[in-house]
Amino acid sequence: MKVVLKECTQYEVDTIKETVMAALHRLQFDFSKLYNAKVAIKPNLLTSASPESAVVTHPAFFKAIVQIVTQHGGVPVLVESPAVHSLQRVMKKTGYDAIVTEEEVLVADTSDCMIIHNENSHHFKRFEVPTILAECDILINIPKFKTHSLTYITCAVKNLFGTIHGMKKSQWHIKAKSKDDFAMMLLDLYQAYLTDKALPQTIVHIVDAITMMEGDGPGPSGRPKFMGVIATSYNAIAVDYALSQLAGFDIENIPTITQGFKRGLCATPDKIEIIKDEGIFADYQCAAPKDSGSTKILAIPLINRLLKNLFIAKPLPDPEKCTLCYQCKKICPVKAISISTDGKVPHYDYSTCIRCYCCMEICPESAISLSKPLFKKILR
Ligand code: SF4
Ligand code: SF4
Repeated sequence: MKVVLKECTQYEVDTIKETVMAALHRLQFDFSKLYNAKVAIKPNLLTSASPESAVVTHPAFFKAIVQIVTQHGGVPVLVESPAVHSLQRVMKKTGYDAIVTEEEVLVADTSDCMIIHNENSHHFKRFEVPTILAECDILINIPKFKTHSLTYITCAVKNLFGTIHGMKKSQWHIKAKSKDDFAMMLLDLYQAYLTDKALPQTIVHIVDAITMMEGDGPGPSGRPKFMGVIATSYNAIAVDYALSQLAGFDIENIPTITQGFKRGLCATPDKIEIIKDEGIFADYQCAAPKDSGSTKILAIPLINRLLKNLFIAKPLPDPEKCTLCYQCKKICPVKAISISTDGKVPHYDYSTCIRCYCCMEICPESAISLSKPLFKKILR
C-alpha cells in the first residue's frame, strides 16, 4: 500500500497539475481509464469561506484536477453538498463558479439520492449518497487536510461524508453521538464506498495540504498553516495517517485511523510505503485541536445528561464576535440553540446539546470556542 507525498509550494494551476501527475505516476495510476469516463470530483466545500482561510479545497487545486481529467478525455462532475449554505452560494464565494463555467464541469444534484450498503459494517449498513455516483467510473476525492474539533482531523475518510446531502449530515450526529461512534460511522461509510458495486470502482485520494488548517478546525475558527505538500493514495486511511504523522499529531487520538487499522480497512503502518520528496521534512509541528474530552458517556442515555457538563467541553459563543446570524441554530441537529435571550448571543441549552460541534464548524465569525470541561477546571 503506497502513499506518495510530493512537495508543492504554491496554488498555481500548472504547478499543481505537474505535481499531481507525477504523484499519480508513482501510484501507477492508469491515465487511459480517464478516457471517455465520467469522473466524480469531491472537494471539501464546507461553507462560504475565502480560499485563503484554508476552510475549503483551494479552487486552483480543483481546477488542476479538472484539467487533468479533461486533458485525458474524461468528463468531470463536481459532487459536493455543503451543510448549511447552497452549493451555488459556496461556489461563488470560493471562486469555484468561474471554474465550473470555464472548464464546463457538470455539477451533480446531490439531493437526488440512492442507498448504498455495507454488509460488513460495524454498525451502520445503509447510507444515502448522490445517485450520479452510480453513473461515474472514477471518484477523485480531493479533501483539504484540516484539524477537527470532534474527529481530530478531517481528510480523505471524513471528506466522503460530505457526499451526504446538506442537513442530513448533521442528523448522523444523533445516530452516532460519541466521538468514537461517529468515527466508526465514518469508517462504515468508507467501507461502503469500497464494497458497494454501484459506486465507482476506482477511487483515488489527492489531498490539498499545500496550506493545511491547524488549531480549532475545520471551520473559520481554525488557522491556515503552510505545509507545501500534496498527498495521494488509493487508501483513505493510509493518506490520512501519513499526513497526520507529518503534522506531528498523536495518531492514538485519531479514531478513524486507529480503528481503520483494527478493522483491516488499511494495511498496518509497517506495511504502508510512504514515498516522499526530499523537501518534505519529518514534523511540521501543526497545532492540534483543543481536547474536547471523552464523549463516550453520551452513549449512556440517562447518565449523559448529568455528566456531560462535567467531562466534555461546551461550545461557547462570544458576545464580542457574534453577529446573531443564527447559522449555528440552523445546523444544530438537536435544536439546542434558540433565539437570543440577552440580545448578544443565541441561547444554548447544554442539557440537550450532544457536543457534535457542528455550530462551531459553521460559525462564519469564529465566535464559538470550546470551554474547558468543569472536571478539568477543578483538576487545575
Ligand atoms: S455564534 Fe456564530 S453562527 Fe451563531 S449566531 Fe453568532 S455568529 Fe452566527
Ligand atoms: S449546540 Fe452545537 S455542539 Fe451542541 S448539539 Fe447543537 S450544534 Fe452540536
